[in-house]
Amino acid sequence: MIARAPSPGPRGLLRRLREIMAEAGSVDERLARVVRSIAANMVAEVCSVYLLRNDELELYATEGLNPEAIHKTRLKVGEGLVGDIAAHARPLALADAQNHPQFAYKPETGEEIYHSLLGVPLQRDARVIGVLVVQNKTRTQYSEEEVEVLETISMVLAEMVASGQLIGAEDVAAVARAPSLPFRADGRVLSEGLAIGQAVLHEPRIQITKTIADDIPLEKSRLDAAVASMRDQVNQMLDAPDDDIVGESRDVLETYKMFAHDTGWLAKLHGAVESGLTAEAAVLRVQGDTRHRMQAITDPYLRERLADLDDLANRLLLHLSGKTARSVAENLPDNAILFAKAMGPAELLDYDRRRLQALVLEEGTSSSHVAIVARALGIPVIGGIGGAIARVEPGDQVVVDGDHAQIFVRPGPDVVRAFEQSLHLRQARLAKYAAQRDEPPITRDGKRIALLVNAGLLIDLAHLDETNADGIGLYRTELQFLVRPTMPKADAQQQIYRRVIEHAGERPVVFRTLDVGGDKVLPYLAKHPEENPAMGWRAIRISLDRPALLKVQLRAMLQAAEGHVLHVMFPMIAEVDEFRRARKMLDREVARLKALKRPMPRDVKVGTMLEVPALAWQLPALLPLVDFVSVGSNDLMQFLFATDRGNPRMVDRYDPLSPSMVSFLRWVVQQCKTYEKPLTMCGEMGSRPLEAMALLGLGFERLSMPANAIGPVKEMLRSLDVLSLAEFLEGLYYLPDHSLRARLEEFARENGVIV
Ligand code: PEP
Ligand code: MG
Repeated sequence: MIARAPSPGPRGLLRRLREIMAEAGSVDERLARVVRSIAANMVAEVCSVYLLRNDELELYATEGLNPEAIHKTRLKVGEGLVGDIAAHARPLALADAQNHPQFAYKPETGEEIYHSLLGVPLQRDARVIGVLVVQNKTRTQYSEEEVEVLETISMVLAEMVASGQLIGAEDVAAVARAPSLPFRADGRVLSEGLAIGQAVLHEPRIQITKTIADDIPLEKSRLDAAVASMRDQVNQMLDAPDDDIVGESRDVLETYKMFAHDTGWLAKLHGAVESGLTAEAAVLRVQGDTRHRMQAITDPYLRERLADLDDLANRLLLHLSGKTARSVAENLPDNAILFAKAMGPAELLDYDRRRLQALVLEEGTSSSHVAIVARALGIPVIGGIGGAIARVEPGDQVVVDGDHAQIFVRPGPDVVRAFEQSLHLRQARLAKYAAQRDEPPITRDGKRIALLVNAGLLIDLAHLDETNADGIGLYRTELQFLVRPTMPKADAQQQIYRRVIEHAGERPVVFRTLDVGGDKVLPYLAKHPEENPAMGWRAIRISLDRPALLKVQLRAMLQAAEGHVLHVMFPMIAEVDEFRRARKMLDREVARLKALKRPMPRDVKVGTMLEVPALAWQLPALLPLVDFVSVGSNDLMQFLFATDRGNPRMVDRYDPLSPSMVSFLRWVVQQCKTYEKPLTMCGEMGSRPLEAMALLGLGFERLSMPANAIGPVKEMLRSLDVLSLAEFLEGLYYLPDHSLRARLEEFARENGVIV
């Protein structure tokens, strides 16, 4: 293996490329000069440019390979090493290319004498338009620096090709017409469903057209000015009163601030400008490098930091272009598939539901609130697709396959056909559930289970009828607060609650009082920086400290429920005393209405969420005071296992079907049975058939879930014999296992339970 002398960097080469552009001659001659210069600069015997036209990578120019092969050698995307570089849009550096399993020998090129190969994609935005390759006779280990130099050159070359400086107008059109390469990525289903539509970027990308600097000192000062203005903006946002920080969370801003002063990053940017790039191209160049490093890194913490750097690069581009980030929500096409790195629930609600077909997140977990809101809206969401944004162009066709946790960008006709089949199957499945709408939710051994829906938006009311659910087991009132720019007034709240109650008729609706804080950020409520917002000032804690808010809400509920039974539930209760204080406020409001001789609910039932583990150990003191209890498994899991529910790194770390969670829940069930208080599961755990099965085995008789889970859960319970499952569970509570999932799956299989 030959070690290489340090690369001289791209500056001289970029200067030479500029000279070539100014020289006389045909475009073919220019391109030939370009590859010759690159070969010389990279100390390579071969340099070739392949461009994508008619689905194939065609050799357009070469220094070193047989010139006869120009316009003759063609490779399919994915064929050979060149095809592989194009298919995966990533560089490849191989000391022994010929023995690589992907190597495809093309005799006309005479390339059998070249052992090593370094190739990079020619890319414009997310679109691969060709491949740039250098080859050496000796087995050469290309350095990271050389890869970077070739990437810089390829970026510049791609712009020159596209602008017709290196190929004829007809060829430019052919290259532009060549379809962008499809790609598939696997993620996690955060909200199920299937969709096809066109890509929309939540944060639009900045287009750049000029890559080589005319005046390097000028580009340097432009870069410095943009960095300074970006820093100022981040500082201003951090210094602003808390209410003004909308969208970005404080810790993201803090990370930006850290990187905005990071000398390594800034040195790289300066280095790229020094090498002869414009400031914009330098940012893109360094961003490209960050993304490649991101692909190779498995450590999730490092990946996340690199993802922050990626965001910061976008921000810097905005500053260079003098533009400001603008919401794309207003100009949404009818069939939008939205791509975002991460998103809060309020941001999602900015988009028009009727136009939004699906959401693709680079991060995201299924118990994050954006996923909960998406499920309420029936929007399919696939999360955990790292690097998706860099590979998708606005307007690209995208298939979101929630059955297999995949997305296809620019799918071929076979994928679209397969998708249509899946859609068909899904519709058949939904039709089957719809046909079972009136079947009673009774287990094989005759136990009637109450199936309720989780709601929070008016759109959910239709779900109540569609599913024939027994009522609304959890009405998240905060969702109405999240969709508005200002705090809804008492009247507006009352109107909403009345609509819900009237629509539900005799079916119960459990209204949960405001549960904000954590990741549910109200833009108009003053925020207080917290290190751990999930464990911070949220939900009932805010309500007790700012009683006016809760008072208005309780009053609105009481008045809306005139003549009906009102169910009020308090979130995040951690101790009996908090419940007592909240209940006292409600009692006071009831007394006030009575004194004023205002219309009253027929009855008022008061309950609490059980989602903070401490409360479970006060159940004997609590249960005599409440009318009902509802378990919030989403928060309960996060507090029981000390795992952030919104952190993608933690999603699969612990299982709700762990012996500890299951035996914890058994204790809760036993206590509620002793005190004869109705117990519901309203966390996401109740919405998955296998988990729901376990809950029934534990003795839960009421499950509240997103509407689309009712069909599968009902089908499961109608095939279940609860008693035999309860017996089966007896042997499992104290096992040392990580999870009981496999055992429960086996039980389902052996007993014909449809999960
Ligand atoms: C829960 O925590 O399980 C729950 C139902 O409440 P939310 O998801 O709204 O926090
Ligand atoms: Mg909760």
